[in-house]
Amino acid sequence: MSKRLETALIHGAIREGYVDKKGAVNVPVYLSSTFHQESIDEFGEYDYARSGNPTRAALEMAIAELEGGNRGFAFSTGMAAVSACFMILSAGDHIVITEDVYGGTYRFVTKVLPRYGITHTFVDFTDVEAVKAAVTPETKLIYMETPSNPTLGIIDIRAVVDIAKQHGAMTFLDNTFMTPLHQRPLDLGVDVVIHSATKFLSGHSDILAGLVVTKDGELGNQIYFIQNSFGSVLGVQDSFTLIQNMKTTAVRFNEQTRVAGRIAEFLEQQPLVEKVYYPGLASHPGAAIHNGQSTSTGAVLSFSLPSYAVAKAFVDAMQIPVFAVSLGGVESILSYPAKMSHAAMEPEERAKRGITDGLLRFSVGLENEDDLLEDFAQALAVASNVAVK
Ligand SMILES: *Cc1c(COP(=O)(O)O)cnc(C)c1O
Repeated sequence: MSKRLETALIHGAIREGYVDKKGAVNVPVYLSSTFHQESIDEFGEYDYARSGNPTRAALEMAIAELEGGNRGFAFSTGMAAVSACFMILSAGDHIVITEDVYGGTYRFVTKVLPRYGITHTFVDFTDVEAVKAAVTPETKLIYMETPSNPTLGIIDIRAVVDIAKQHGAMTFLDNTFMTPLHQRPLDLGVDVVIHSATKFLSGHSDILAGLVVTKDGELGNQIYFIQNSFGSVLGVQDSFTLIQNMKTTAVRFNEQTRVAGRIAEFLEQQPLVEKVYYPGLASHPGAAIHNGQSTSTGAVLSFSLPSYAVAKAFVDAMQIPVFAVSLGGVESILSYPAKMSHAAMEPEERAKRGITDGLLRFSVGLENEDDLLEDFAQALAVASNVAVK
């Protein structure tokens, strides 16, 4: 019987014959950096925990199953996962990458990779022709993130995969905003799926973690080689925490998404709000493409207020959410991309991407939805006093 994803989330890390025979319903925490070998010519499945640890392996198998891949890899952070994937490239290779990319990925691609002779071109990926035009004979990789951060831009995954296949380039996709439950890039032909599991998969703002999934055996071997060589593996305790937290991802994410839809509609009706970025709104230019490749509109939205002063007044007046970097937690998280997630980006680059001084991002938590709506209403009322001054 093939299991649906909600079931796989609960049982995916526990396998017959894999965990111990004592009947524990949770994956054992194997706090062991090294493993005893039977004899000089008889080695077991595990030797050293950087290369493999049974607790981490349970998580890696679970994420591979959830994404419909063959191999999963758990890293110490989302950025460790992103950078390990880039490290399968070599000097002389070229990357075509969405300009609307996570700030840390932008920093790695612009400040680290060029030192190793790996070049890049940023493109507005909502324009498929522009992606095609940016591909050169050296292009080895086309890198996507959809929906994007923080303006929720939508990339047509199938169209970009087609371009990559025509040129013999690989595709990577950062699937953090959708989780494997609602967007399955490998099924659409993407080669490598990446998650910052720090966000919705863990969902409690407790640990940092990154996950990678591949389907192709050779590509899996290449990522494994980097994971073991570079060594930024996820620790055993954090692997256990993530396995536990992932069991509730479906209920958390689906509820957070439902409330995000209500908040987005509310914000769209507010005179003080200039623009709402949320793929669940009919007004979103990428809504049709998004709905053709995803089964959820997600729990993150952004909106722009007229100025820095109004945004500041609004943030100061909001009472429920934490004002912080990050997203995907059980607590609502309000953030200011210009100074937080995208602080690493030059001001001109931010402006090009719509990351204005009035832009705020909101990750919906699990608080009472009417409390959240009331908080928005009162904070907007306070902020509108600043706007008229
Ligand atoms: C947070 C995030 C990352 C980086 O993950 P860390 O766990 O913070 O290293 C990468 N991509 C996206 C879309 C993110 O939101």
